[in-house]
Amino acid sequence: MKLTQVTKIYHNKHSDVIALDNVSIEIAHTGITAIIGPSGCGKTTLLYILRGHDKNFTGHRDVDGHIEMIEQDIQLFEAMSVIDNLRMVNSNFDEINKYLSLFQMSEHQNKKVKKLSLGQKKRVQFIRALLNHPDYLLCDEITAALDYENIQIVMNVLKKISQQISVIIVTHDISLVERFADHTIK
Ligand code: ADP
Ligand code: MG
Repeated sequence: MKLTQVTKIYHNKHSDVIALDNVSIEIAHTGITAIIGPSGCGKTTLLYILRGHDKNFTGHRDVDGHIEMIEQDIQLFEAMSVIDNLRMVNSNFDEINKYLSLFQMSEHQNKKVKKLSLGQKKRVQFIRALLNHPDYLLCDEITAALDYENIQIVMNVLKKISQQISVIIVTHDISLVERFADHTIK
C-alpha cells in the first residue's frame, strides 16, 4: 500500500498543526516495516490515514488489501472469556487454536479477559486481529504496554507471520528495530 504526497493538518482553536507534511511512503506486501520517530512527529496520524478511517487529508492513498490495526488501548470484551472474544470474529477452531498456541495463550483461553495481565490482553488483541485475516497489520506503540517477555513472544510471532503478511510497527525501541525490522521508515 502506498501514500503519495499526503499532508494532514489538525485545525485547533488557536493554531493549526501540520502533522504530516507531504509524506510519500510505500509499504511492502510482506516483512516487518518499522515506523520510527520522536513523540509528536505524526506516527499515529500516519497509521490512522493508512487504516482508512481518517479521510480528512490531501494526497493519495492506495490500498490493496484488508487492514487490521492494534491500537494502544485494549478493545476487548472484558467480562467475556478469551475464547468467546475470539469466536466472535472467527469460528474456525483450528485457526483459533493455532494462534492461541503461537501467542502462548492456550492455557488462558477460558479465563475472562478482565482477569488477564496487560501483556496477555495485548496478545489476545493480536490473535483477534489476525483471525480477521489482514493483509496489513498496523501496530501502534507496540512496546508501550508490554514487558520484555511479552515483547519477545509477540515479536517472534510477528516475524513468522510477516513471511505471509505485511506487519507495520510503530516504536521508539531501536533495538527492536535492529533485531526485527526488514524495512524502516523514519
Ligand atoms: P506521534 O504518534 O508520532 O506521537 P501524532 O500523530 O499523535 O504523533 O501527533 C502528531 C501531531 O499532531 C502532534 O503535534 C499532535 O499534538 C497533533 N495531533 C494529533 N492528534 C490531534 C488531534 N486530534 N487534534 C489536534 N492535534 C492533534
Ligand atoms: Mg502515537
